[in-house]
Parts: sequence; structure tokens; C-alpha cells
Amino acid sequence: MMDAFTRREGELYCEDVPVSELVARWGTPAYVYSRTALRTRLQDLSDAFGSHPHLIAYSVKANGNLAVLRTLADMGAGADIVSGGELYRARLAGIPAQRILFSGVGKTLPELAAALREGIYAFNVESEGELRSLSELAQAMGKTAPIAFRINPNIDTPTPHAYTRTGHAATKFGVPIHDAMRLYRIASELPGIAVRGIDMHLGSQILAIEPYHVALEQALEMVARLKEEGHELEFLDLGGGLGISYSGGEGIPADLLADSIVPSLRETGLRLILEPGRYIVGHAGILLTRVLYVKEGGGKRFVVTDAGMNDLLRPSHYAGYHAVEPILSRDREHARVDVVGPICETGDFLALDREIERVEPGELLAVMTAGAYGFSMSSTYNQRPRPVEILVDGDRAELVRRRETIQDLVAAELDLTPEEKQLGAHKGIL
Ligand SMILES: *Cc1c(COP(=O)(O)O)cnc(C)c1O
Repeated sequence: MMDAFTRREGELYCEDVPVSELVARWGTPAYVYSRTALRTRLQDLSDAFGSHPHLIAYSVKANGNLAVLRTLADMGAGADIVSGGELYRARLAGIPAQRILFSGVGKTLPELAAALREGIYAFNVESEGELRSLSELAQAMGKTAPIAFRINPNIDTPTPHAYTRTGHAATKFGVPIHDAMRLYRIASELPGIAVRGIDMHLGSQILAIEPYHVALEQALEMVARLKEEGHELEFLDLGGGLGISYSGGEGIPADLLADSIVPSLRETGLRLILEPGRYIVGHAGILLTRVLYVKEGGGKRFVVTDAGMNDLLRPSHYAGYHAVEPILSRDREHARVDVVGPICETGDFLALDREIERVEPGELLAVMTAGAYGFSMSSTYNQRPRPVEILVDGDRAELVRRRETIQDLVAAELDLTPEEKQLGAHKGIL
């Protein structure tokens, strides 16, 4: 695996740029992404599936920065979106509508309408109610909505945390597999609907191949039954969830995954869609933060940083592990510490009970493998402007999102016109 973040004489680099230079220019907290890493990950995954017709519909929610999306779009990636906002971002970044799939349990009418207007590749429909709304809307707009059902295969996928399991029957996602045939029959008769595919998404951070194999077998069985009833499908979407290693290992082997999927898929002639998010961007990003204070209490040593749970939620939200390292590594003592943020919550931490170099106030730390679900899950909680985002390509670095200001944070409360104050109207594409 290509590593974008390496050390030269103890100093952390992103590609050919010392990350200390990025902090000198743009401050902390800062997300830093490697363009080469983004490209390599996408290319490697695509290569694994070789000549079998496939589309990598990158999951925008993992990291929706426009520069990240543009990088992937230029290489032919599509997008898996879960909101109208993500549709807007994906189109703004130049991802063609015909490479966009729309997933999610709670698509609103304005969101469905926007996607119909754009002419996306497919709607991954998650309920009968959504199907009927989409049919009525498409008719009213004089359009046809291409659809797949997201099937809940009832596989209890082993992911590290219950919140990232989506493929078993008791989660809110998808339609029950035993009800799918009935829904396909309804869909094939509804006006404004064109049945095109079948979709599954098993969860996130899956490191085994077996769940994908089981899901594929279930999907193919359904494809065969549909064919008997006269429904010819065009694509099979196996979702995302491809896991990575947060501690220096390899993650899910894409080539073995491809080997276990492609042969049986080839017989069907179906186009394969994948919706990876983390797999593409996870390793391509880090979060830089400065140590504000080091203090002791209750038998513990706390390293207080200027990045907190609002900047990187994964550790608090689902016990996500990230390696934390000083950007200048030196030969010195180690200490067992909690790395905590400035937010007024006990759950605000980046790392707990971690053996790291004995760092001093003022030093810079890198939180590794933070490219996925980092900035995209960040918030302004405690009225903290969100981090800058920086993209590195070789020896060049570019600011791809400026630091939010506290004026940005209050703007939506201050810029209302008198009419808006009365009507509650809102601006925007939707
Ligand atoms: C979140 C999500 C993905 C991406 O998951 P990763 O674990 O980042 O690969 C793909 N498809 C759907 C429907 C999702 O909700």
C-alpha cells in the first residue's frame, strides 16, 4: 500500500511537503489530504475488478470536500449520495449525473425532485412509501425514475461498532428480503418507474470478504427469480463498507474481494456498482492539532489539544481508534496519556490511555487515518469554527477550504430579510 504520510529524519511529511509548513501557513486544527493517495486507492480498487463492467460510486458522506470529489471525478468515479446537499456537491465537482446513485431511508420530496431533474443513474429505494412518492413525482414531472431496491439481507456483519452495522433486519435500512419480490412486482407496474437494479449495503468498516460473498449469493438468487418473472436487471450494487486498518495493517484485500465476486457476477452480465467511502479516503487524510496544555489529575496525564470531538467525532461517537503522533518524533521518554479536546463534555477525546512520546505544550500532533468521516462529521459545537482543509499533491499544497469564521457561524441568524422573518422561507437549491 502506498503511504502518503512518511517520516524523514523524524519529521512527518505529506507526500513531499513537511506538515509543519502547512501549519505555519494555515494554522490548526487542519485536515490534510494527499491527492496521490486518493488517486492510488481509487485506481487500485478499480484495477482489482479489471475488465468486468463496474462503477465506483464514491460515498460522498465519507468526505465531501469539492477538491476531493474533483480528484475522484477526474478519474471516472461516480458518487453515492444520501441527500440533496450531496447531490449539489457532487454535481458542482463535475460528477456526471449518470454516475450518481441516491441512497438513504429518508429522501424528501424536494430531494427526489432535484435528483429527477438532474437525471441520476439510479435511486436506491428503501421503502414502499418512497417508491410510491417517487412514482407520483416522476409522473408529475414527466420523467422516469430508474430504481433499485436496497435489500436488507439480514446478515449481521461483524463491524467494530453496532452503530456501523446496517445489514441486519432490525436496522432501519432497506426493504426486508422476504418482501422484495412483491415490491419489484409493484414497481414494474407503477408509472414513472423503471426497474434497473438491486442494491445492498452491509455496514461500514468490514474487514472480511465472507459477508460480501453471502450478500452476493442472496442478490444473485433474487436476480434469477426476478428474471423468471420477466424483470431484466442492469446492475447489482454491493454497497460500500470496505474496511481499512487504523493501526498500520492492510485492511480488506480488494483483489481477493474481486476474485470472490467477479466470476459469479460475470455469468449474469450485470454491471457491478460499489459505494466505498472510507476505503478511498481514510488513509489519504490526517488531522493536525496543537497541544495547548499538559496536566495531571486523578492519576492521569491529559494532553489538551486545540482539536476536539467537534472536529473529529469518531473516537467519541463509536470508539474509533486513531493513532496520535507528534509531527516531530524524537528519541525521548513515553508517557501514558488521554488526548482530550477543549469541548465541555467528558466524552471529548481523540485518544484514551495511549502510550505516546512525552509531548510538551505548543507541540504539533497528527491524528492519523482521519480522511474518512473526519471533516464530514465535524460540527461547530461550542461555537468553534471547523478546521481548514488542505490538499497536497507532490511538493505543492493548496488550501481547499478556508477556516470558518465566527461571523460565518452567526450569519444565518443575522442575514434574514424582513420577508423571510415572516414567512420562514429559505434560500438554496432545494
Ligand atoms: C455510508 C455508506 C456507504 C459508505 O460506507 P463506507 O464504510 O465509507 O465505505 C456506502 N453506501 C451507503 C448506502 C452508505 O450509507
